[in-house]
Amino acid sequence: MREIVGEALAKRLVDWGVDTIFGLPGDGINGLMEGFRRQRESLRFVLVHHEEAAAFMATGYAKATGRLGVCAATSGPGAIHLLNGLYDAKLDHAPVLALTGMQETSVLGSYYQQEVHTPQLYENVAAYNLMVTNPQQLPGVVDIAIRKALAERTVVHLSFPNDIQVAEASADPYRHVSPGKPPKSSPVLSRPPVPAAQDELDRAARVLGEGGKVAMLVGIGARDARDEVLAVADCLAAPIVKTLPGKQVVPDEHPLTTGGLGLLGTKPSEELMEECDTLLMVGTSFPYSSYLPAPGKARVVQIDRDASRIGLRLPVEVALAADARTALRQLLPLLNPTTDRSFLEKYQRGSTEWRSSMKALRDPKRHPIAPSYFMGCVDDLAADDAILTCDSGTIATWSARHWTIRGGREFYLSGNLATMAPGLPYAIAMQHALPNRQVIAFVGDGGFAMLMAEFLTAARHDLPIKVMVNNNNSYGQILWEQILLGYPEYAVRHREPEADFSSWARSCGGYGVKVTDPGRLQDAVREALAHPGPALVDCSVNPNEPPMPGKVRYEQAKEFTEAFLRGQPHRIATLATVARDKINQLRS
Ligand code: FAD
Repeated sequence: MREIVGEALAKRLVDWGVDTIFGLPGDGINGLMEGFRRQRESLRFVLVHHEEAAAFMATGYAKATGRLGVCAATSGPGAIHLLNGLYDAKLDHAPVLALTGMQETSVLGSYYQQEVHTPQLYENVAAYNLMVTNPQQLPGVVDIAIRKALAERTVVHLSFPNDIQVAEASADPYRHVSPGKPPKSSPVLSRPPVPAAQDELDRAARVLGEGGKVAMLVGIGARDARDEVLAVADCLAAPIVKTLPGKQVVPDEHPLTTGGLGLLGTKPSEELMEECDTLLMVGTSFPYSSYLPAPGKARVVQIDRDASRIGLRLPVEVALAADARTALRQLLPLLNPTTDRSFLEKYQRGSTEWRSSMKALRDPKRHPIAPSYFMGCVDDLAADDAILTCDSGTIATWSARHWTIRGGREFYLSGNLATMAPGLPYAIAMQHALPNRQVIAFVGDGGFAMLMAEFLTAARHDLPIKVMVNNNNSYGQILWEQILLGYPEYAVRHREPEADFSSWARSCGGYGVKVTDPGRLQDAVREALAHPGPALVDCSVNPNEPPMPGKVRYEQAKEFTEAFLRGQPHRIATLATVARDKINQLRS
């Protein structure tokens, strides 16, 4: 059998260590699919129900493993559907290769059916973006694309016209590219850790040593530097604040951390940023500058391996363009241990109080069920090395506050694109990549409804993922954002009765249970977690539970009141919820 381009592509992916492709076939990629079929012993094709989910899966796979994520879609609509997931990868620095189809080269330009010029469409999302027009371009362009994706942790794209896909792999007499094996047959991060320059390290040590109230802000870029972050923080007696994606860098109950920052963050973290005089930022592009020290208020040292990401939000005195773990290891011996630990101790007391006030919100008696209690049950019952994925919405708040990073636990969301719906596809991809881990998606009814067909994907692939649907029958986050603008909510609640997603889970062949009674919730979560296959708990939660910021600012309280005065519906229910939360916290 002659080798076609589709097969040459599949073989090259296998050479690079790729073992999984997430995608949906179509008549624009039949030649690629034939190539994948011929390599099916080494290359698993995960058949999904929507291409957007395939791109999220490739992104989730890359985020959790550090390896290349690969997704495939047909020409035109399929390629268009991939886009949102690819932007998620780009914005959160996940290496992803997108493979798409294209109409035959002979008809291009003739207003042909599905003639969507994907390289133009992908121009903004893909750092390497090419329509392959000659079989002999393979394998060179595959190598370049993969190296680029891994080196820059970004999105790359190759589009294959139908005739090229089935053309003989070595049809071109001109040998443009030498087809040797890739230098490293592994799709894992290939970039060597970059050390910091010695003079910058000396300056950083001096600035940190001169600080009286030093704090650290760590992001997902410090993911592999837990020990180093803790060692430097301990040496400087500096409390550690974590970004939301950086939640897993340090265990949530570690005495050196005050937790998250921002609307979803903690009160002690917010106060720490207001009080510190020196800030060491590590592996973060935290976007909300109003939560950072006012410019000029603190001296800043920043470590980021991408020099173009340094100084985005604050003036920086010392910039260490280096790998987080390497730079912190270099820095540690240059630091003098801080003997006065009173600043740290003050924030340790604040954090203890904060944690107990958060635990008080997990009220098992509230009806309708408090979302904090729902997340709290998942937190109490999940394994110590479970992975939690979540969507964008109020679920991000409940996860930030009530998913406790301990042991080997991890946490993933769409940080910078902040898109709805990735939670379920992430969980599917992570369960594929890490079959021995417990993988839980904590999603809202809104995000789940967008890509709920993927629960069927989980069932059809025998993936024992657990889906927890925080069902408030509304777009909760937007509801509260509208109120914080000072106006009553509009068009954010679905009409009653709310959907019962558990019946969908059961019809897919999975375990599904609907919970409206708080007394039943713990058992339902326990049963779902213990179920050997895919399982879903649809929990009716209180739609009038505001995700309160760590510290309520004057403007927030003012706008909230304005919205109420302007006729916000469900006022009484909301005020009653806030009052009961407060009473629980005062009692704790
Ligand atoms: P990134 O923005 O991805 O930055 C990571 C940085 O690390 C990059 O600059 C990268 O170059 C660098 N890096 C990577 N690897 C290394 C390495 N090895 N060495 C050194 N540097 C490295 N976030 C919050 O923090 N608080 C909130 O309240 C909050 N609310 C949110 C609400 C919702 C509904 C959603 C969806 C998201 C929310 N986010 C929140 C997420 C927020 O939008 C940003 O994504 C997040 O703050 C950025 O986190 P980060 O800096 O850790 O990650």
